[in-house]
Amino acid sequence: MAKATKQRYCYAFEEGDGTNKKLLGGKGAGLCTMTQIGLPVPPGYVITTEANIEFLEAGDKFPTDLMDEVHEYMEALEKKTGKGFGDPAKPLLVSVRSGSALSMPGMMDTILNLGLNDETAQGMIALTKNERFVQDAYRRFLQLFGKIGLGIVPVKTPEGTEEDKFDKIFEEVKKKYNAHVDTELSAEALAEVVQKFKDLIKRQTGKPFPQDPWAQLFLSVEGVFKSWEGKRAVDYRRQFNITPEMAYGTAVNICTMVFGNMGNDSATGVGFTRDPGTGENKLYGDYLINAQGEDVVAGIRTPRPLKELRIDMPGIFKELEKMHHTLEKHYREVQDFEFTIEQGKLYMLQTRNGKMNAWALCKTSADMVKEGLITEEEALLRIEPDMLEQFLHRRIDPDIKQEPLAVGISASPGAAIGKVVFDADQAERMGNQGEKIILTRIETKPEDIHGFFAAQGILTSRGGKTSHAAVVARGMGKPCVSGAEGLDINYDLKEARVGGVVIKEGDIVTLDGTGGRFFVGAVPMLDPELPKDLAELMEWADKAARIEVWANADTPDMAIKARQHGAKGIGLCRTERMFNEADRLPLMRNMILADTPEERKRWAEKLTPMQRQDFVEIFRAMDGLPVTIRLLDPPLHEFLPSIEELLNEVNRLKEFNQILNALEQLPGTLAILDPDLHKYVPSIETVAREFSEFKAKGLDQKLLKQKETVLRRVRVLTEYNPMLGNRGVRCGISFPEIYDMQIQAIFEATAIALREKIDARAEIMIPNVCTRQELVWVKPRVEKIHKEVEKRFNVKIKYKLGTMVEIARACVRAARIAEVAEFFSFGTNDLTQGTFSFSREDAENKFLPIYNTEGILRHNPFEILDELGVGWLMQHAVQAGRQTRPDLKIGICGEHGGQPQAVEFCHRIGLNYVSCSPMRIPIARMAAAHAMIKETKGGAGRSKSL
Ligand code: PEP
Ligand code: MG
Repeated sequence: MAKATKQRYCYAFEEGDGTNKKLLGGKGAGLCTMTQIGLPVPPGYVITTEANIEFLEAGDKFPTDLMDEVHEYMEALEKKTGKGFGDPAKPLLVSVRSGSALSMPGMMDTILNLGLNDETAQGMIALTKNERFVQDAYRRFLQLFGKIGLGIVPVKTPEGTEEDKFDKIFEEVKKKYNAHVDTELSAEALAEVVQKFKDLIKRQTGKPFPQDPWAQLFLSVEGVFKSWEGKRAVDYRRQFNITPEMAYGTAVNICTMVFGNMGNDSATGVGFTRDPGTGENKLYGDYLINAQGEDVVAGIRTPRPLKELRIDMPGIFKELEKMHHTLEKHYREVQDFEFTIEQGKLYMLQTRNGKMNAWALCKTSADMVKEGLITEEEALLRIEPDMLEQFLHRRIDPDIKQEPLAVGISASPGAAIGKVVFDADQAERMGNQGEKIILTRIETKPEDIHGFFAAQGILTSRGGKTSHAAVVARGMGKPCVSGAEGLDINYDLKEARVGGVVIKEGDIVTLDGTGGRFFVGAVPMLDPELPKDLAELMEWADKAARIEVWANADTPDMAIKARQHGAKGIGLCRTERMFNEADRLPLMRNMILADTPEERKRWAEKLTPMQRQDFVEIFRAMDGLPVTIRLLDPPLHEFLPSIEELLNEVNRLKEFNQILNALEQLPGTLAILDPDLHKYVPSIETVAREFSEFKAKGLDQKLLKQKETVLRRVRVLTEYNPMLGNRGVRCGISFPEIYDMQIQAIFEATAIALREKIDARAEIMIPNVCTRQELVWVKPRVEKIHKEVEKRFNVKIKYKLGTMVEIARACVRAARIAEVAEFFSFGTNDLTQGTFSFSREDAENKFLPIYNTEGILRHNPFEILDELGVGWLMQHAVQAGRQTRPDLKIGICGEHGGQPQAVEFCHRIGLNYVSCSPMRIPIARMAAAHAMIKETKGGAGRSKSL
């Protein structure tokens, strides 16, 4: 074996450290672990990722000692198996498979049966007495080796479809022998395929197919190594932010071949230790009798559910069940494994942590805690907060009785509506233009990955729950229906047929990944529900977390939803949203249009009962929890129509008046011109009469005057830069009647709720504060109204007065502001705009995408909190504010409040709560738990200094 002192590139499965995925790749590490915990793995070894990195860094040259080492390990394999590499008498055949630390579509994957050549094939025939089997193995090898070792990859035809030259030859031979499935081809037919494949290789490479197994091996390792830098693998890493720290280079696994296609006592399959769709604790997967490797996942034959193996091969099924426990006990995670049964003997070929949808992940995590396999904290850490987003997926309304057009396998849950597109490139193009797409394929391959990104859902006519389409869609949380066998897809015609129905590219369909169905047209959907196990996990999360999760909720309905999702308070109720209703907007407009404070007050009083009623209902929903109500924030002209619109109307009204005048003269004029004209415009007199009545009442002038007043007022209120203009507390100070009305509504609502024995806890929040003096101005007005309402209702009302911190100056002056404010809430939307001096709309529509692609800014700071800039200001404000008022309650209510990374940051800088939209509450609660668990483990301690 290789000496310990020099760089080592190979590890036998007995030797490798199964915890070192970075070195051995996930697959290699799994094979080593399985071997070492006593599972039946065919002998083999791993070439490390370091060898790959050295190869790439040297300009695609093998490290000097690598091939010597490979020779040594091949010899060791020969010894272990009693076979010879290239020996026709007892040929040793191996598989060559890539495997990086993270599973990564886009890399060259698997070569089977390497070592076959014309001589060893004959040797195998003599040994097995099964020529058909050997020819079948040979043609598979040639195709896989041709692709990976020799780079004969599928190419785009002029029509835009993808053509695999090997597939094409194979299909031609099948057609020639009238075979519908591969198994119907005879040994002779397969030998013909073998010959044609060899000819193809010669045509494509200019050299004959290499008969020498060593040459085959080196070319294959080289092909796998190079695929690390292949476009698809690079794109995938970029898309998923896979950094070199996470995975760098691919390992190559060389494993002795075992055959699942040696007859009816042989099989191959893939499985999960628990159901990845539901999380149920039972073996789950697919298998195919008398088949090899990729047959199961490629969807060429539709596989059978693993539970049927209990009947087909009861002994093996028992063995698999036992293995399920061994694997889970060792890994303490659900495993996704591959196996082969060769003439009644079971072999494990791969294991890795099973990718599950969010539902199954929640269930298995909760179950595994109860089974004593993992701790509550481990269970929580498994659930990436953003993953819970999947619960936000819609589903088909179960009351809808529309018949599905076809039924397939429910491969990934959720539902989607979109246009059918048969090609991944086209899906990408249309997706980029904002179209909703259902990527529809016979089966999918790793090269379709960009189509997945662009699509809302995936539909395939072949393949089971472990097909490529199913696995990838589940990972992405997109709905997928696979194996919809009734669907006859024709890529050339760009259409699919089901019975007599033809679906053309661009037709709208609805996909139900949960039920495995799809429908023509757009089917009504329902809002999502949270799964049962989540409640328990959320309880654990709340127990583990320090920072609380509150909600941004503006209406009673939102408050109810927030509470259902576990909000511990309302962190932001944007009162302006309450004015945007049909019965309120005219009152609001009149208030804004008022010329005098008295008139404004009169209109404000009409709004008070409406606001009050909303607050009462919100207090009822949040009984016992704080409700932070923010006084009016936006500039007033936002409630008025635009100048353009008003100008049009005024001009129209003026024209209308002219017409009106003209019409009064019209009947007489018309009669003179043409006495018969009334036949064609019989209503003209009536219309003219009506118009004069209208005018007589003065309505024409009244309307015009109204519009002109609004126009004048809008002109007065319009600002050059409204976001930096008279908004928030500035507007409250300019038009005090508005804030007075709101404060009164809040206190009256509190009093009414208290009378109903509701524990109403109003926290009044002032927006856009930049100096303590603004609060000093507001505070006495609040106190005065408070006193007055307490007296009138004869109740004691507790409340807090606090401020948004959303202006950079407020962060800087936080110590002084905290002298008046009892709480702070960071408005990171405005704070981000101010800190960057970016206007959000302009930034996101114009230059931010360029900044992102140019690498000037890594993220959109309106989505991902800018910890170094905005975060710095926040951290300063927290420290300064608490110097003044050590018990100062601080939260965040900008949109970042529901974003996991920001939750972790807010936890670190010591905020008391994050506030986010009701639907993101579970995500934030999970993120809050993660932050604390990581802190306890030493990963994310509370920041002590700036
Ligand atoms: C903020 O600025 O972060 C905030 C919550 O206020 P709004 O988005 O309403 O301006
Ligand atoms: Mg704001």
